[in-house]
Amino acid sequence: MPQSTDQIKDHVALFKDPEYQEMFARKREDFECGHSAEKIAEVAEWTKSWDYREKNLARTAVTVNPARACQPLGATFCASGFAGMLPFVHGSQGCVAYFRSHLTRHFKEPSTQVSSNMTEDAAVFGGLANMIDGLQNSYTLYKPTAIAVSTTCMAEVIGDDLQAFITTAKQQGAIPADFPVPSAHTPSFTGSHCDGYDNMLEGILSYFWADLTPTPNEKINVIPGFDGYCVGNNRELKRMFGLMGVDATIISDPADIYDTPADGTFRMYAEGTTIEEAKDAINAKATISMQQYCTRKTLGMIKNKGQATEAFNYPLGVAATDEFLMKLSEMTGKPIPQELAIERGRLVDAMTDSQAYLHGKTFTVFGDPDFCIGMVRFLMEVGAEPVHVVASNGNKAWAKKVKAVLDSSPFGARAQVWPGKDLWAVRSLLFTEPTDLIIGSSYGKYLERDTGIPLIRLSFPIFDRHHHHRFPTWGYQGGLQVLVRILDKVFDILDSQTNVAGVNDISFDLTR
Ligand code: SF4
Repeated sequence: MPQSTDQIKDHVALFKDPEYQEMFARKREDFECGHSAEKIAEVAEWTKSWDYREKNLARTAVTVNPARACQPLGATFCASGFAGMLPFVHGSQGCVAYFRSHLTRHFKEPSTQVSSNMTEDAAVFGGLANMIDGLQNSYTLYKPTAIAVSTTCMAEVIGDDLQAFITTAKQQGAIPADFPVPSAHTPSFTGSHCDGYDNMLEGILSYFWADLTPTPNEKINVIPGFDGYCVGNNRELKRMFGLMGVDATIISDPADIYDTPADGTFRMYAEGTTIEEAKDAINAKATISMQQYCTRKTLGMIKNKGQATEAFNYPLGVAATDEFLMKLSEMTGKPIPQELAIERGRLVDAMTDSQAYLHGKTFTVFGDPDFCIGMVRFLMEVGAEPVHVVASNGNKAWAKKVKAVLDSSPFGARAQVWPGKDLWAVRSLLFTEPTDLIIGSSYGKYLERDTGIPLIRLSFPIFDRHHHHRFPTWGYQGGLQVLVRILDKVFDILDSQTNVAGVNDISFDLTR
């Protein structure tokens, strides 16, 4: 064997060794019974054509590689942003293993959440017993301050009643009667992780606000929404609030949960919005959502409580940050300080310095509905041209909104908006109408491989690059960070095109 205790190889090198290569070839030959290499190449070529594109875009009966996750993933992310709150999913263990691994792979941190471990018997007889045992075990073993219950497909298909189950668990003494257990139904066969986030947040706030009457104060609530960059972004928000002297509460703040220090102490619950803060949030004078499409239901509920609400779409870049800060200033009466004005100027300066390398560059953007809007605005600000804008979890109303944003700039003239389309559809778009670059999540790497169009990883999830989420994308500082990420890719491409001495290394190769 090519591997021994004296020579342990990483799998990347190991499986290239002849023993493994022969084994793979034998497996293909003896067991896979596939088509010939010629036939596969012929069909693969056809999938790049306009003929295939039309069929692919007309496809409705099946989804292939959607750029979204299911509702409970968003629900558990939302619950993890509250101090001491344990996300508890009523459903099968495999689903929760997926949520945990998805979040852990992105943040490179443990993701604390549990399931009621429903199996075949629960699918037939209902999951009440699982809920009772699960709540009792979670309360006893993990000592949370609250347990937030969401559901998987299985619990929803059989119609388990969360409220009745939680009440029964309390009546049977599994958990104390006054122990907080907010809940939300999060059926995965509709919506996405954004809706799961929204449902859970509405469930949590409604639970803690149920018996409260608002006594208005001067505070502002800010809801970040589902954000893979929450670690950098929530801290950036707090920094800006500090500079402005704004008394703001971030509702669901998982920044510290997904960025715990390695100092010898395991933190199952690290900071986050406290239950007292969640209760006090009913008294705020207004609530701002950073992501409209993650908070539609929650904002509706908050509005019904008499609070002013405002929703942004992943404010990224100069104009969007301006709007956010001006709204904050208007709501609080606090002026925008000189420090932020200087940061703005520096971002404008950086954009101007690099504009020649971005002007006219074409982009495909895929991701969550708010991310797409924020990114498209920023691209047009730097003179780039969005051509395909795709949200697997976007709908027609979203598409209309994106169109209006695109229509506000000549750089949006060529763009097409694709609500509800998956990444297999994006592949067809890229083969038939290629762009210079793709912006999206790690799942775009297969598009990059297939089409040769470089990918910039800027949305959720990012598995195959590390620590991007520790840096902000919001605010002027965040705009700078996004600008640098895009420019780095542009310069890497330029370098790869000018790398043969005396042949193509023309024009100031070193001094761009
Ligand atoms: S879609 Fe349903 S079955 Fe799949 S992980 Fe989500 S909850 Fe589980």
